[in-house]
Amino acid sequence: MRFQAIQHMLADMASSLFACESMVLAAARRADAGSDVRMEASMCKLFVSEACFQIADKAVQIHGNVGVTKNHPVEFIFRRLRLYRIVTGTSEIQRNTIAKEILQRHGS
Ligand SMILES: Cc1cc2nc3c(=O)[nH]c(=O)nc-3n(C[C@H](O)[C@H](O)[C@H](O)COP(=O)(O)OP(=O)(O)OC[C@H]3O[C@@H](n4cnc5c(N)ncnc54)[C@H](O)[C@@H]3O)c2cc1C
Repeated sequence: MRFQAIQHMLADMASSLFACESMVLAAARRADAGSDVRMEASMCKLFVSEACFQIADKAVQIHGNVGVTKNHPVEFIFRRLRLYRIVTGTSEIQRNTIAKEILQRHGS
């Protein structure tokens, strides 16, 4: 298979993206049904921002030096996605929210 290592990265990237989309849709369905989705919303923000950063990191790797050229679309997306692990509640704060909800729901 030609460029098998690259193809495996593409497969991992597409699988992660599918997991992200599925997770967001599942949370949105719960919200539409009137459920309290504070924990699920934080899970989505945490998981999707971290997973998409990993996807962007693989995209940089695939593009090599071009992928780190300032303002190249791949470099721009990588930089933007690094930001999304910080804005609107950092990953650490999302983990705090998720842990708090777990402990509340399970009465500890
Ligand atoms: C480009 C950009 C755009 C932004 N736009 C907006 C916007 O439109 N609206 C808005 O409201 N804000 C915006 N922000 C602010 C952003 O939401 C904050 O930067 C973010 O909430 C983190 O706050 P901080 O920078 O003060 O970091 P700090 O709160 O000082 O945190 C620093 C580090 O410590 C960690 N940390 C802090 N407290 C805890 C804790 N209790 N437990 C574990 N770890 C902890 C954080 O996760 C982080 O890694 C923007 C930031 C940037 C960079």
